[in-house]
Amino acid sequence: MKDINFNTIFNDIFIELQPMENPGVAASYIPELAKIDPDKFGIHLSHVDKGDFYQGDSNERFSIQSISKVFSLTLAMRLIGGNLWSRVGVEPSGTAFNSLVQLEVENGIPRNPFINAGAIVVCDVLMTYLDNPKVELLDFIRTIANNPSLEYNQRVAESEKNTSDRNKALIYLMRDFGNIHNDVDEVLDLYFYLCSIEMNCCELAHSFMFLVTAGMDEASGEMIISPSQAKRINAIMQLCGFYDEAGEFAFKVGLPGKSGVGGGIVAVHPGKYAIAVWSPRLNRKGNSYMGMKALELFTTKTEDSIF
Ligand code: GLU
Repeated sequence: MKDINFNTIFNDIFIELQPMENPGVAASYIPELAKIDPDKFGIHLSHVDKGDFYQGDSNERFSIQSISKVFSLTLAMRLIGGNLWSRVGVEPSGTAFNSLVQLEVENGIPRNPFINAGAIVVCDVLMTYLDNPKVELLDFIRTIANNPSLEYNQRVAESEKNTSDRNKALIYLMRDFGNIHNDVDEVLDLYFYLCSIEMNCCELAHSFMFLVTAGMDEASGEMIISPSQAKRINAIMQLCGFYDEAGEFAFKVGLPGKSGVGGGIVAVHPGKYAIAVWSPRLNRKGNSYMGMKALELFTTKTEDSIF
């Protein structure tokens, strides 16, 4: 990587994005999410050697939604290792994140752990192996984020629960195929809890540093997962982290990452940095419109991606 001034790059990105029209629309199918100011924008870079750089509303917490599916996957891999892969696949879906279509044809085995069906199966695994799933899951996220103040948002979780017909359809279909082992309402409750975790861009970037450092916790130096597991999670993020737009994200940005319908995106450059961006207006595929643009500009200006 050439010698880069990240402050200058963030300033330049800000200047380029500001006049740009944003045709995106904030998610409203979860009514609580529609209450957020859609024009928020924040970005935070956490670099292993060079420290932290940020711009805009990077210290304001938001609903990280599907991004937290990376944490639930990490915890499930710690608990049952490779046995997870008989319950959920590792292939891109090419369909919407809440689609029922493939699930019927593929016998209730979701394509990957980041579409809703896959994350619901991962929650089912956590229900089986943890005594107190919500508490232990939040504790785990707080540990890898090195931040005991992290919380979920009860209003968002309830809002999701009240509009959950599609997620209910997914879980009942999977239960019919024998791929759900616990009470469906309890599994969904854990799933909504997981999706309603809140973080700001700084917290989000730091919580992904273990995927930059091959599984090692940046504060304690302890291994959260093995280097091989970190490689696998990064691979799944690359292939499945952006709904059915993972190809577009790889093409334009060139980093593994994960987005959520709250407008957040985190991307990881293994060995170098984690970067989080937040802008609630989503494109048609459910990814943050300006978030993608900002990250595309970032890897273009730094002339550095994993490819
Ligand atoms: N909680 C959301 C849902 O189940 C997650 C959506 C997302 O961020 O992909 O629809």
